Amino acid sequence: MGKDQIIIMDRIEGKAGKAFVVFTNLPVWASEDGSKKRMDVDISVAPFDEINKNQPVFAKKKGAFKKKYSCRSCGEALDISAAVPMDFTFDVACNQFPTFTFAMNVPGVVCGVCGIGNAVSAGGIEEEIGSAIIEAVNSNSIEM
Ligand SMILES: [Zn+2]
Repeated sequence: MGKDQIIIMDRIEGKAGKAFVVFTNLPVWASEDGSKKRMDVDISVAPFDEINKNQPVFAKKKGAFKKKYSCRSCGEALDISAAVPMDFTFDVACNQFPTFTFAMNVPGVVCGVCGIGNAVSAGGIEEEIGSAIIEAVNSNSIEM
């Protein structure tokens, strides 16, 4: 085994259900000959920190039984039956490693008042995003 080094994956992508994800410039550790690669960030956590906490994109959701959705920016009520595939892109800075881009295409609604795009957390989309991330990693022979 030689020494591991960081390499940058230009683009890896995965799909599950209605979720499509793309990582651009993702840093991974690779063996000297490039045959073995493994993540340097917790890929199952970092994107979710962005989409839920650092750069939240989901519409606000209220109600125990019949959920009501409202714009994450201005609070206007949203009709999620009008959701269409929408792109959301995030720069992710993780520890001391190079910044990478995480993009996802998921159902979303544009607010009729302020015009901002809201991702819609319904129909298990967050689980599908997780599965799409795992597919992207696995299909590129990267170890988690
Ligand atoms: Zn709005």
